[in-house]
Order: sequence, then structure tokens, then C-alpha cells
Amino acid sequence: MTAILLPIFAVLIGFLIAIAFKPSINNKVNLLLSFSGAFLLSTIIFESLPEVYVNQNNEIGIFIVAGLLMQILLEFSSKGAEHGHTHQKDTDSFPWLLFISLSIHALIEGFPISENEHMLYGIVVHKLPIAIIVSSFLFISKIKLWKSILFVLIFALMTPLGSYINQQEFILESYKTPINAFVIGVLLHVSTTILFESSKNHQFNASKLAVILLGFIIAYYL
Ligand SMILES: [Zn+2]
Ligand SMILES: [Zn+2]
Repeated sequence: MTAILLPIFAVLIGFLIAIAFKPSINNKVNLLLSFSGAFLLSTIIFESLPEVYVNQNNEIGIFIVAGLLMQILLEFSSKGAEHGHTHQKDTDSFPWLLFISLSIHALIEGFPISENEHMLYGIVVHKLPIAIIVSSFLFISKIKLWKSILFVLIFALMTPLGSYINQQEFILESYKTPINAFVIGVLLHVSTTILFESSKNHQFNASKLAVILLGFIIAYYL
């Protein structure tokens, strides 16, 4: 049940934060984003990666690489919204490409979370800043409010939907490790990109470094 509710809460809370604070929280959102990247990456390295390699031959790596590639492809249409980029456009037309690629991404990352607590936390922490950033983007644009709300609602439901599909009978037990590996690839790309992009011009930023370290440490002790 938590695997269904937590991701929805994360998106809805992000949406509410975006309404309440508007873009005035940019700097804090960036810190939260860096934290989420570090936290997500370490849950993958500490927990998920060892899990998929246990009792599997190294062929499982192919699925990780496939996930990485999938995310690269998705970002051609989302322009990187999964790791916190939005490109403001002064149009009132619904951002279909962004919507579809974000939804596919959210669906994919939902698959392993019902059976993998650490990945669930990693994804929930990653969703919060993304929801804030995407919601703020929708508010600033000229897209109608009801359309924005629909966008965020469907986006919020995609991860639980992935988790639900993963629990169906046609997803055989033997598929689960390859699926996990694929999701690891997707999340590896997202989390490393967040970390790479968090050090703008490679300028030293103490608070950013601090939240990144905090992300690593919390994930380790969780
Ligand atoms: Zn980017
Ligand atoms: Zn994601």
C-alpha cells in the first residue's frame, strides 16, 4: 500500500509547494534536487545493484544499459524534466511531448517499488523536487489550470500504475530481476545527471556539497 500512496503523496506535496511558494524557492528546490540525486544514486549503489547481481550472470548488465539508453531517448522529448530541467515556452498548448515522456518514465520507475523498499524511498525523494519543478513550469506557462492539474494528477498515478502492473500474474517471477535492472539503468542516468548538473560551472558550493553528502550518508544508514 505504501508503494501506491507514497509516490502519489510526493507528487501532490510537490504540486502544493509549487502553488504555495511559486518560483521564489528556486534555490531551495535546487538543494532538494541535489539531495535527491545523491540519495537516489546511493540507494542504487548500496542496495539495488548488489541485489540484481546476486545469483545472476553478468548478462544482467545488458538490461541496465538498456535502461540507460531508454532514459536517454526519453530525454529527447522531455528535454530533461526527469532530472529537473524545464524549458519555459510562452504557449498555451498542452506540452504533449513532455507529458508523454515524463509519464513513461514515471511508469517504468514504478515497477520495482512494491518489492524494493529502498528503491521506493529513492524514487519518492526524487519525485518531490521534480513535481515542484514541473508544477511551477505549468503554473508559469499559459496552460489552463485544469489542464495543469490533470497533467500532475496523471503523472502522480503513473508510478503506482507501474507498481500495479508489476504485481500482475503475466509478469513472471523470472522477469523481475531484468525489470529491476532496467529501472536501475533509468535511475542511474537520472541521478548521475542531477549530480553532474548540480555543480554549475564547477563552482564550489558548500551547501550543495553538504546536501549531497547528507544524501549519501542517509541512504547508507537506511
Ligand atoms: Zn539536464
Ligand atoms: Zn523519475
